[in-house]
Amino acid sequence: MDGEGQISGAGRCVVLVGPAGAGKTTIAHRLIAAQPADRAFSVSHTSRPMRAGERDGVDYWFVARDAFEALIAADAFVEWARVHDNLYGTTRAAIAHHLQAGRQVIFDIDIEGAGNIARAFPDRTDLVFVSPPSWQVLVRRLRARGSESDDRLRRRLCTARAELEAVLRQADAGVAWTAVVNDDLDRAVADVEALLCSPPGAHRMPDAERARLRGMGADAAADVRADSTDPAA
Ligand code: 5GP
Repeated sequence: MDGEGQISGAGRCVVLVGPAGAGKTTIAHRLIAAQPADRAFSVSHTSRPMRAGERDGVDYWFVARDAFEALIAADAFVEWARVHDNLYGTTRAAIAHHLQAGRQVIFDIDIEGAGNIARAFPDRTDLVFVSPPSWQVLVRRLRARGSESDDRLRRRLCTARAELEAVLRQADAGVAWTAVVNDDLDRAVADVEALLCSPPGAHRMPDAERARLRGMGADAAADVRADSTDPAA
């Protein structure tokens, strides 16, 4: 579910992937606040309803499903995906002017979208997995939000497990993923800043980090099934 990039400019795509509760949205906003003239958030379109506290055009462009489908038909998206029964996508219009102006564009998208951005913008994409310190911490953070039913919570955890396993598979296959542990927010932001001092895609995930994620994957596997459409009881 992707389209050709065809967007010129010296800008860079910084793609943050990670489970809800890992803190990628907070990290994205901190990165932009540090350099607002040179960085921008990629505001996705979504068909999901707006949540309390969200703003149209800031967090997402909220559109009806048929309007989203019309945008697909008009080839407006660089990438789009179905996540938890809703449609999400990045339009060319959302990012083109930033990339053409040489900005770093920060994406908060799922793993399928990340792969599509990396394919659309080879040589100028950083893939960053934002990881909680442990599976147990992730479960605790999501429970503490208290805003979702048990069923939804299980689905998010199933998706988290599937994404974690996919990142590991891709890293093992040589895809340039890096991982940032969000235990301490300042340190996590500093880790992404350090990454942005090197050319895009220059980093690989160290063996020790891969081993840590594998351990987290084992805890996830003991807790939930991988299929996000079929949550474990
Ligand atoms: P939420 O509904 O919690 O805001 O987001 C659900 C998931 O959709 C998250 O993993 C988020 O990163 C992902 N997502 C948000 N925007 C996009 C997008 O434009 N494309 C893709 N592929 N995923 C997105």
